[in-house]
Amino acid sequence: MTTRLPLPPSLYADTAVAPVATPPLDVDKTVSVAIVGGGYTGLSTALHLAEQGVEALVLEAQEPGWGASGNNGGHTNPGLKHDPDQIEADFGAELGRRMIDFSYGTTNFTHDLIRRYQIPCEARQNGTLRAAYNEASAAAIEKTAQQCIRRGMPVQYLNREQLREMTGTERYIGAMLDTRGGDLHPLSYARGLARAAISAGAKVHGETPALSLRRDGARWRIETPRAVVHADKVLLATNGFTDDLWPALRRTIVPVFSSIAATAPLSDAVARSIMPTRPVLYESGHITVYYRIDQHNRLLMGGRGPMRWIKSPNDVALSHALCRAAMAAAQGCRLDAWLEQPARHHQGSLSACARAGGKHPDLARLQRPRRRALDRDGRAARAPADRRCQGRDRHARHGHQADPDARILALGGYDCCDRGPGAGPAGRLKKKAPPRQERRLA
Ligand SMILES: Cc1cc2nc3c(=O)[nH]c(=O)nc-3n(C[C@H](O)[C@H](O)[C@H](O)COP(=O)(O)OP(=O)(O)OC[C@H]3O[C@@H](n4cnc5c(N)ncnc54)[C@H](O)[C@@H]3O)c2cc1C
Repeated sequence: MTTRLPLPPSLYADTAVAPVATPPLDVDKTVSVAIVGGGYTGLSTALHLAEQGVEALVLEAQEPGWGASGNNGGHTNPGLKHDPDQIEADFGAELGRRMIDFSYGTTNFTHDLIRRYQIPCEARQNGTLRAAYNEASAAAIEKTAQQCIRRGMPVQYLNREQLREMTGTERYIGAMLDTRGGDLHPLSYARGLARAAISAGAKVHGETPALSLRRDGARWRIETPRAVVHADKVLLATNGFTDDLWPALRRTIVPVFSSIAATAPLSDAVARSIMPTRPVLYESGHITVYYRIDQHNRLLMGGRGPMRWIKSPNDVALSHALCRAAMAAAQGCRLDAWLEQPARHHQGSLSACARAGGKHPDLARLQRPRRRALDRDGRAARAPADRRCQGRDRHARHGHQADPDARILALGGYDCCDRGPGAGPAGRLKKKAPPRQERRLA
């Protein structure tokens, strides 16, 4: 028997739509695809498989959205970190173009999905600003914008004056506005995805950790506390919460923490003076600072936090200070306008791991000997985290084909806007294994 960990108190937990019932699994099942992890990756994959008539079953240790999916910044940002030209140079014209189309198309895909299933998650598509506060970053962002414009994307480069209008602050020298970006309530979206997946025919079981995974004849056998699942194929979608279910996968992942501070609802006048048209904004810099004003006029700002679970509001002091700085620049608002409640924080995504670079102490365990160990047992990850941090695979989603005949996939490391979890693995798990080169995209 296991006991579900409750969602820690947070703004999102307090304000999300009610969860759909996802009872623990208590009878043995045989399915085509078993999915371990009930975040965006697992739920979206289940939904898209079910839409294609494939029997899919999600095993979630806690409840859908309990992980990063229910606790992130809520930004839906198009694109990849690196410039389109760089991606084509690294991956070749054809694969590079597909990566660009795919990643810049993710927000439209997500917002279409939300409309199609009428998911109540406060979704808006008011654009993403990628903003620079120093000359070097501004020049780099302008270059990115030009490359996007050349490819016909709905993007424009904004100067300091235009940004003052859009953000109420003098802080930014330049920014790229991509009108496909937006925001949503992350936990409501995760719960909506669970509801949609179930309505499409998928099974979703909360409080059901996968305890062991092994081959059993032609199928995979997954043990859970009360029942056994047999599956033709398995997707591991456990992100920063990856345990020893597939030990070689765990060795490629370093969980990191990140934090967000939220204000009490601001007055209309103050909220309008910060971001009247309600885009989301992230800064280009060593520490990624990102913020948005939600539908209730709260300013939510994320940035660096302590590398552990948050226990008190003091733990998000940096985010609070950044909030104050932004607000002061806009309106001179006082600190007491801030809600002294930490937004909930959690183990971060693999992309956050990549961003952490060599600074995270745990990255030491991702050094070469580990990778050799992975290679030797024949279940090599295609893009281990250490290579993502440094090499050309830094562009890619974190995908592992853990089993040589493609019947186990592991996916993670993308943003909440990604359609990857839905379109990618669903197709891959249904059809036969793609050519080798394509697997890098998984
Ligand atoms: C602070 C923060 C802010 C972020 N902000 C943004 C943002 O603004 N925009 C954006 O696009 N992205 C953002 N991200 C990234 C985004 O949240 C993640 O990339 C995304 O949610 C990953 O989804 P997932 O389904 O792969 O993993 P998760 O949502 O983490 O789900 C993994 C699940 O696996 C379950 N699990 C683990 N082991 C087992 C097991 N053995 N059996 C059963 N279940 C198991 C866990 O309980 C968990 O629910 C942010 C991330 C963080 C941490």
